[in-house]
Amino acid sequence: MLVPMGELLKDALEHKYAVGAFDVPSLETVEAVLEAAVGNSSPVIVAIPESFCRDVRFETLVGCAREQALPLKVPVAIILDHGRSYESCIRALRAGMTSVMFDGSSLPYGENVAITREVVRVAHAVGVTVEGEIGHVGQGAEYEKGQEVLTKPEEAAQFVADTGVDALAVAVGTAHGKYKGEPKIHYDLLSTIYDTVKMPLVLHGGSSTGDERLKRSIDYGIAKVNIYTDMAEEAKRRIKKALDERWDKVRLNDLIHETRGAFKDVSGHYMQLFGSTGRA
Ligand SMILES: [Zn+2]
Repeated sequence: MLVPMGELLKDALEHKYAVGAFDVPSLETVEAVLEAAVGNSSPVIVAIPESFCRDVRFETLVGCAREQALPLKVPVAIILDHGRSYESCIRALRAGMTSVMFDGSSLPYGENVAITREVVRVAHAVGVTVEGEIGHVGQGAEYEKGQEVLTKPEEAAQFVADTGVDALAVAVGTAHGKYKGEPKIHYDLLSTIYDTVKMPLVLHGGSSTGDERLKRSIDYGIAKVNIYTDMAEEAKRRIKKALDERWDKVRLNDLIHETRGAFKDVSGHYMQLFGSTGRA
C-alpha cells in the first residue's frame, strides 16, 4: 500500500527503529527493493532523485513504483530525493509521489526557508510529507570539507518553526558516495538536535558509514536512513564477476538480473540492521 512518509517515520520514532530510503535508478531496482520489503515484512521508502532519470522518464519510474507498491501489504512511501527546486517538487506531487524532499541546504538560510515553506504549504494540501535539510551533507570524496557545514541545533529548531517540515535531514558527519577517510558521526550533536526539534531526523549518506555507526544513530533520533552507493557498488561487483567469468555467454538480461539481486540483498540487509523488519 502507498502511504505518506510521515506515518512511517512517526511509528519508527515511537518504536526506536529506522526506515530505509533506497534510491532506485531503474524499473528492476524498484522491484528489487519492494521485494526485499515484502520478504522482510518491512515498511520501506522508495527514493527517486530527478538526476537518476536520464534513461527513463521520471514520471515513468514514479508511475512504475506506484503501480508495484499499491497491491502490496507492506506500507511504501515514494519520495523525491534531493528536489532541487520548487518546480521539481510540484512535478513530484503531480507524478503521484507521497513525499518530497526539498534540498535547499546549499542556499542561504532565507532562500532555503522561503522555498521549503512554499513546498510544505502545497504538499500538505494534498497529504504529502515534506523533508527539508539544514546544514549540508556533502560528498564523501570531499569528506573533510563537509565537516564545516554540520547542522546547528538552534538553526535547526528555527528552520522547523519557519517551514513546518515533517522530517529533517541533518549533517552530523556522514557524506554521500564513497568516503575519503574514516566516517565519524557526531552523536553528541545529533542528540542535541533531536532534543531541540523532537521530530524524525534523516541521515543521508548511509552507505559505507558502517553498520555499528548507523545502528547507534537510531538511538539518537534518526528515523530514516538513505542508502544508494552500497547497492550500486554491489551491483557493479556482481556485473564485473559475471562478465569476467562468462563474457562469451553472458546476456544483457543477466546483468539486469545481477543488478536486481544486488539491490534486493543490500536493501534487505539494511532493513534488518535498522530494525524495520517485521514492522509492516
Ligand atoms: Zn542524500
